[in-house]
Amino acid sequence: MFTLLFDIDGTLLRTRGAGLEAIRHTMQEMFDISSPLPQVSVHGRTDCGILTDVFTPFGLDFEKHRQTFLSNYSGHLQRTLPEFEGGVLPGVVPLLERLSSRDDVTLGLLTGNCRQAALIKIEHFQLQSYFCGLGGFGDQSTSRNEVARDALRAVRQRVQESFREDRLWVIGDTVDDITCARAIDAKSMVVETGGCSAEELKNGEPDVCLEDLSDVEAVLGHWSD
Ligand SMILES: [Mg+2]
Repeated sequence: MFTLLFDIDGTLLRTRGAGLEAIRHTMQEMFDISSPLPQVSVHGRTDCGILTDVFTPFGLDFEKHRQTFLSNYSGHLQRTLPEFEGGVLPGVVPLLERLSSRDDVTLGLLTGNCRQAALIKIEHFQLQSYFCGLGGFGDQSTSRNEVARDALRAVRQRVQESFREDRLWVIGDTVDDITCARAIDAKSMVVETGGCSAEELKNGEPDVCLEDLSDVEAVLGHWSD
């Protein structure tokens, strides 16, 4: 059994800022904060980590508001996604179509998004039929490696004796995806569609680095006997 854990943003799809806009709406709604949010890096990070950095300059404790905030944020995200012209990235649909027809492949998510936001994004871009909600999400931890361990636990429970350690892959778009793959002894495939250059990604020493997923046959070649 091949187990393939996909990152969402920059790997499967792009939302062009809909997430940050939803955070702005939620900050305004919950704390009446309309001043510009601090510049925080979002690539490869978990919602928990991003929001901790957004909250701190305002003297707010993210942990205290975590559950309510993530739930309200997800509600706003549902409205902001159609306002921004995001889209599914090249090759993703034909690739998932091929993978989901195989009985030797289990598809999962390994994302910094909180579970609710991840599922909203996947559904908005009509990819929900390929993923059953299996994976690791950024609700609880600021560490992507921790999210990877959650994903691995969930996968092992689901796949059980068919699980093959040497056939576990993480597919992402940042060096953090490569690092978290290593944290669970998975192989990594990275794509340049999230804004990181090939040079930057190769510094993380991924197993495979591609411009994008559009050459479906070449991608599948890494996941065949
Ligand atoms: Mg990403």
